[in-house]
Amino acid sequence: MPIPFDNSYARLPQQFFAAAQPLQSPSPALIQVNEALAAELGIDSEWLKSPAGLDVLSGRAIAQGSEPIAQAYAGHQFGNFVPQLGDGRAILLGEVVDRAGRRRDIQLKGAGRTPFSRGGDGRAALGPVLREYLVSEAMAALGIPTTRALAAVTTGEPVVRETILPGAMLTRVASSHIRVGTFQFFAARGDEEAVRHLADHVIARHYPAAAENPQPYRALLDAVISAQAALVARWLLVGFIHGVMNTDNMSVAGETIDYGPCAFMDVYDAATVFSSIDRAGRYAYGNQPRIAHWNLTRLAETLLPLLDEDENAAVEQAQDALGGFGAMFEQTYFGGLRRKVGLLSDEPEDMELMNALLTRMTENQVDFTLLFRALGRAASGEDEPARALFVDPTAFDAWATQWRARLARDGQAAADRRAAMDRVNPAFIPRNHQVEAMITAAVERQEYTPFHRMLDVLSRPFEDQPDALDLAEPPLPHERVAATFCGT
Ligand code: AMP
Ligand code: MG
Repeated sequence: MPIPFDNSYARLPQQFFAAAQPLQSPSPALIQVNEALAAELGIDSEWLKSPAGLDVLSGRAIAQGSEPIAQAYAGHQFGNFVPQLGDGRAILLGEVVDRAGRRRDIQLKGAGRTPFSRGGDGRAALGPVLREYLVSEAMAALGIPTTRALAAVTTGEPVVRETILPGAMLTRVASSHIRVGTFQFFAARGDEEAVRHLADHVIARHYPAAAENPQPYRALLDAVISAQAALVARWLLVGFIHGVMNTDNMSVAGETIDYGPCAFMDVYDAATVFSSIDRAGRYAYGNQPRIAHWNLTRLAETLLPLLDEDENAAVEQAQDALGGFGAMFEQTYFGGLRRKVGLLSDEPEDMELMNALLTRMTENQVDFTLLFRALGRAASGEDEPARALFVDPTAFDAWATQWRARLARDGQAAADRRAAMDRVNPAFIPRNHQVEAMITAAVERQEYTPFHRMLDVLSRPFEDQPDALDLAEPPLPHERVAATFCGT
């Protein structure tokens, strides 16, 4: 088998999914195959690039061993519960066990209508496919848990949105596509057996240590809370805004999933929102931890019957678990910020020092990524690049005096400190205005050079790359992108 499928999800009870056949692209063309990821998965990338591989990546052929299904799930969308969502335009081809022994899903996104499509056409436009490919791979290179992109193809068939756009399919790889909303789907139907079955599946697949715990379902809840708290903290540390943190878009494995209207922040401001459909700012940058906690509360509710036979005792268990979120988030967030400003040791006043910097950055419209990268140079005595980012550079000077006093109490040699800072403060992130320009080039001019170039530069985000300084630049006022649109 060119793809060594083994499909555990398709062996779950029939209400977990519906069989679905991918749409056959009329005249597909390959945009990109992720050779490094293919190797990890034990798939020959030469085969993927061959006509037989392209047929599978574009829905024209079902690979040997694949059992294509659409997964059932529900979800809270912007706070409102929808009892049935499900894969409306994605088809799980199957799972493979990778070279490291980890089970990974292989899914075709934009693969046509499924029993869960509701009014949708099941398709994906080229722009959102390129955005997801590039941003998810950039996240992986930044070391943040995420779904991956194995391949992108154009289908040769137009899709109708506000305008007519080229159609595309993305082959997505995930630890699994099980969401908070997957648990909600069964809980909302009162199907306690299915919730238990799903919980057991998730424990076996993602959190095997929970099986050894005397309270396996409590251990599962704790593990998901810990994974999502750490994930959101890591988003904040690179300025990432997911944009649609609905419960159906939160993976129980703790990976970033469903790149729709996501974007990276330029100027630091916790109120930043990009998504065109998030008018109230529910999913603003600084709200993401609170929303993750809200989503996890929805997960805990689905697990109540498994936590304890006694309802009050179960609620107490859930509250106790959820009470751990704040400390877990702060551990990763403040630990990460500490490393971003070059500190190894831990003093109680550090939080204040870091918050003072962030406040000054907002007041002075400072670019988040550039500042932290420049702070590495400031740590080795070169202040000008950092201070020049402030509207009022003396706001940096005043903060830097306190910072230097703190660094002096930290044991690290200056040269080591700079190197350590450069390993956590990226020089390159997928800047939203550049992502938009990359998409325009591909959609309007069939020009993929910007996509390939960005993919290459963003695969080494912590390296200074003198040939790519343009990709490190924040937008000029007229280049600023005010709104990003959903993948649909
Ligand atoms: P999303 O906003 O991408 O997380 O999608 C929310 C729900 O809408 C999921 O159930 C998707 O499968 C479904 N959906 C999104 N786009 C389409 C589409 N073009 N056709 C059918 N279903 C879709
Ligand atoms: Mg989704």
